[in-house]
Amino acid sequence: MEGLIDLHIHTTASDGTLTPSMVVSLACQRGLKALAITDHDTVEGNKEAIEEGRQRGFKVIPGVEISCKHPLGEIHLLGYFVDWGSEILQKRLSQLRRYREERNPEIIRKLRGMGIDITYEEVKEVAGGGSIGRPHIAQVLKEKGYVFSNQDAFDRYLKKGAPAYVPKELLPVEEAIQLIKEADGIPVIAHPMQYRTVSTYGIERFIKELTGAGIEGIEVYYSTHSREDTATLLNIASRYGLLVTGGTDFHGEIKPGIEIGVGMGDMKVPYSLLERMEEVYGV
Ligand code: AMP
Ligand code: ZN
Ligand code: FE
Ligand code: FE
Repeated sequence: MEGLIDLHIHTTASDGTLTPSMVVSLACQRGLKALAITDHDTVEGNKEAIEEGRQRGFKVIPGVEISCKHPLGEIHLLGYFVDWGSEILQKRLSQLRRYREERNPEIIRKLRGMGIDITYEEVKEVAGGGSIGRPHIAQVLKEKGYVFSNQDAFDRYLKKGAPAYVPKELLPVEEAIQLIKEADGIPVIAHPMQYRTVSTYGIERFIKELTGAGIEGIEVYYSTHSREDTATLLNIASRYGLLVTGGTDFHGEIKPGIEIGVGMGDMKVPYSLLERMEEVYGV
């Protein structure tokens, strides 16, 4: 089939600002042919999105984005076509969300210690019941006039090395890969150019190691990838026999400037990549 898709989208189930149904209707409106819901450490948004897709005759791929531990820092693993009803998957993910619940009040405590008037209640209200993350804290800081933007909040307070940073317990990447596979999903490394490994020992060694650990695909097309990044990753994917995927990492208003389907303006993820995934995995 012809057409374009977006396989990396956040909703209100984590730190996106649109509900799963709103995301599906927006993708329909923009003329996309399929999307995947990839919320941080939760599969909760999938049910609503799939139902909305069914009503509109629009293809929705179930997915998840798990924050993982790697020797050189946090990395993100995407899982596509996961059985989102899987008990093992849901249990493990709710444990990861509990780690977040331990970390978030700690961040608030640090901010309050710096004289900032913010409560965890306010953050929960902004998150609206979904998986809470630092972007929600950033949003409250912005609404209260402490920062100019989400990025400003990260730079001044929330990013690694900043004064209110608190590390979070993470699932080792090998375990996350196995978890996705146990839930019948396809494990794919998200936005691979974004990690410290790339500057430390290069993208090829990083991907080679992860291939040994069981990843089956690379997110080659991504909002912030340059043409050169994309070409490098396409070449590596082909040499290691990995699937090629792509998505914008759309978050709605939390990440202004990243639009569904097109990212910062000119991204194009062809439907044929999805057909290839389906062909290889018989889904
Ligand atoms: P958390 O799940 O609480 O660790 O927050 C993860 C979210 O924060 C992701 O959506 C990232 O896009 C965003 N994020 C992480 N680091 C930064 C950073 N340095 N600048 C801006 N956003 C960031
Ligand atoms: Zn996010
Ligand atoms: Fe990510
Ligand atoms: Fe993401």
